[in-house]
Amino acid sequence: MSDPCSMIETAAISLTNRCNLSCSHCGSSDIYSGGGSGPEIDRTALRKLFIQLRELGASTVILSGGEPLLRKDLFSIIGDLGKTGLPCALATNGTLLTRRIIGRLKATGVVTFVRLSVEFPGKTPAGSSFHDADRVFRTLREVVDCGIAVGINMTLLPGNLHHTAELAGKSREAGASFFRAVPVLPVGRSAGIRLPRPFFSNCIAAMLSVKAEFTRVNILDSDSTENRLLQAGDRFVGACFGGSRVLSITADGRAHICAMTDLGGSGVYVTERPVRDCIRILTRRRAYLQRKILMSYGSACRDCRMADTCRGGCLAEWAARGGSGGQPCCYRKCWREAIGRFRDDKRIMSVAAGVVDGYEKYLLFNLPVPCLRALPIWTVEL
Ligand code: SF4
Ligand code: SF4
Repeated sequence: MSDPCSMIETAAISLTNRCNLSCSHCGSSDIYSGGGSGPEIDRTALRKLFIQLRELGASTVILSGGEPLLRKDLFSIIGDLGKTGLPCALATNGTLLTRRIIGRLKATGVVTFVRLSVEFPGKTPAGSSFHDADRVFRTLREVVDCGIAVGINMTLLPGNLHHTAELAGKSREAGASFFRAVPVLPVGRSAGIRLPRPFFSNCIAAMLSVKAEFTRVNILDSDSTENRLLQAGDRFVGACFGGSRVLSITADGRAHICAMTDLGGSGVYVTERPVRDCIRILTRRRAYLQRKILMSYGSACRDCRMADTCRGGCLAEWAARGGSGGQPCCYRKCWREAIGRFRDDKRIMSVAAGVVDGYEKYLLFNLPVPCLRALPIWTVEL
């Protein structure tokens, strides 16, 4: 097996658990929205971390939170990151991005990308709190005008799937480079959310429809026969590589397998041991958890012919449901279900063929396969 430390591509670092918003779907349970703060990794530790990430060959660092702009030393941190030559993506709720701040971000020459989020195009459901779409799109325009690329993230919820195309359209109008929508994980404030059984297949179907609307499709370009596309579902069952390809670091300095789950992170502090050691520990814990997943999902996964490749799929999905019960979102099964719905729609079948071709390029050129929640299904280039 190749050294997991040589596979690292992206580090997602939370700089703070403080946030000036209190979104209903926030996946983190440690966010301080009403004041207060937990421990935050300091600048000296971050400097050491950036140097190690550079040595390991990482290509991107994502600075996130909570709300990273609440860190008073954010620009010094970005400056430190810049000295290593690593580019920075900033994941922010955008509310603190004034023109002056955007200009400062641009002037660093380090921030190449800003990620904003939106869930509903207009009024949000009563009693809930989500990102203010008008404000998000206004900010998006200002950031793009300043010369920094922006991507939009949408959390797919049972109540907003029908807004996906509208939000993708508004993102394009405002100048976003891509629109990414991924199914909600029932963790943090979303923990109580009820996901109807076909929710995951519905999400795939929604994104295929959006892609059909926003992508130039040549119906004759690709082999879009139903059988081929159904078989392709087997390809979408790469195991989780979190912790090696993508390393997630919490505001207090713990290394996690994935930002979506605190699995595997107890006691693995990047402030206390070299990042290499953290990655090796996480990789071993991930392998252990994958064996556990296959056991807990029972015969559906144990008897599956793809089990050796897939190892039960996304760990975060498993953990979100308390680590027990049946497999909630087998990518193979959900992809097949979604494709089955569009068998007579040539346009969507062609789009699906494009997704499959795009994915097969990773396999053909031996490129690192993206995390299941970053598969090409979930992203539309605008
Ligand atoms: S049944 Fe289980 S092992 Fe098989 S593809 Fe689905 S999630 Fe993976
Ligand atoms: S597959 Fe799931 S657990 Fe693994 S990195 Fe992706 S979201 Fe996280």
